[in-house]
Amino acid sequence: MTTLLSPATGESIGEVPTQGADEVEQAVGAARSAFIEWRRASVRDRRDVLRRISDFIRRDQERLAALESLNTGKPITVARGEIGAVATTFDFYAGAVDKFGGQTIPGNAPGTLLTWREPLGVCGAIVPWNFPMVIAGWKVAPALAMGNTVVLKPAEITPLSALALAELALEAGLPAGALSVVTGRGSVVGEALASHPDVAKISFTGSTEVGSRIMELAAPTIKKVSLELGGKSANVIFADADLDACIPSSLWSVYDNAGQDCCARSRLLVERSIFSEVIDRFVASAEAIKVGDPAQEETEMGPLITAAHRERVTDFLTIGRKEGAELVTGGSIPDGPGNYLTPAVLTEVDSGMRVMQEEIFGPVVGIIPFDTEEQAIALANDSIYGLSGSLWTRDIGRALRVAKAIETGMLSINSSSSVHIEAPFGGVKRSGFGREQGMAALDHYTDLKTVFISDH
Ligand code: NAD
Repeated sequence: MTTLLSPATGESIGEVPTQGADEVEQAVGAARSAFIEWRRASVRDRRDVLRRISDFIRRDQERLAALESLNTGKPITVARGEIGAVATTFDFYAGAVDKFGGQTIPGNAPGTLLTWREPLGVCGAIVPWNFPMVIAGWKVAPALAMGNTVVLKPAEITPLSALALAELALEAGLPAGALSVVTGRGSVVGEALASHPDVAKISFTGSTEVGSRIMELAAPTIKKVSLELGGKSANVIFADADLDACIPSSLWSVYDNAGQDCCARSRLLVERSIFSEVIDRFVASAEAIKVGDPAQEETEMGPLITAAHRERVTDFLTIGRKEGAELVTGGSIPDGPGNYLTPAVLTEVDSGMRVMQEEIFGPVVGIIPFDTEEQAIALANDSIYGLSGSLWTRDIGRALRVAKAIETGMLSINSSSSVHIEAPFGGVKRSGFGREQGMAALDHYTDLKTVFISDH
């Protein structure tokens, strides 16, 4: 059994089975059997099941939010929003079921040339601990919508909402076996799933290191793979930015989810003429963030996921200071239990430092000045990652020039939002490939079959 610990207290909140390769075998077998029925289900039946899953998530929003908050330490108000977003994801893909098909193609040969969209079969979904139910929804909903079946592997420390989702799906009328959850370690369950010959596709969200391992494991059986990996996104602030909008938005673009966010804008690049003003305002806002018990309505930032992860984050602060960075605020551990850490701001950093290159995955931002647009672009692109990012300016020409030049999968102008269920989500460079969300995700859960019907 795996004991789950509360990030807020360090105490046990329950146990789940530590499953292994045998359970993966059973789940894949059940998913193969269920695929026969589910792929043949009518478009309306599939749509209705997805819509009911969405309805049941909304019905149980409070219970699911409490579960997610308990397991991850995220503030209850934030967890409520995330559960609402999962319901919206299922709703979106319920609506997409009858809107994504093949084409009739004007071919040269006498006859009719068509493409059909066909489901892949059993899809493996491997998700991390930072947004457990949201990311599970991004994979499960489009996969089921297109007629696939799914074996879902949550992170070993945050399996509770995935288990709840599978129960709701059964209640909503999804055939037994069409969605299974296997709990256990990544090195055992994840590896068994990623190498299983009967799994047609692996959709993985997690670290770049494990993403690379997933590609290796998938290679012998030529599995389809999509990877949503790490990030070190830039937030570029020009001197003409509307700072009243920019500062609060930029604050949460890095401290949201206690910084445990792949889209975190953890590199703040600021035009020199407003550099001190931005630091002063950013630091004052960071110091005002209410860090505390995730169950309280007024809490804005909860604890980090585990004590070990907090230690990794504080180690980065030590590394940064050794490299010459100045910790202007935060990075302190409040008295008492729980994995809390106050939001940290580093200045006197340069782009080559480890704290500016590696994904810290905690509430830490580094702030660097720039003098010219070219310099801002070069700094923004000085990363192995390319997931997300923001830029703030009121000059539309500059906004478009810089947006084109930044190497990233997603970019917000005068905003910090990366997630729109209607639009593709994903990265370039070592942030991965493939897109989740929007109609683009459906490409990854279907194959195209080309059919030619002769006129003769
Ligand atoms: P992780 O890579 O350690 O684990 C992710 C998942 O993979 C977990 O379920 C884990 O059990 C499993 N896993 C671990 N080793 C495995 C192996 N050898 N084979 C198969 N599966 C294995 O990542 P994490 O620490 O859980 O999550 C943090 C990382 O996730 C960060 O790098 C973050 O940027 C990334 N992330 C990316 C996105 C995105 O959409 N791009 C979203 C959220 C998180």
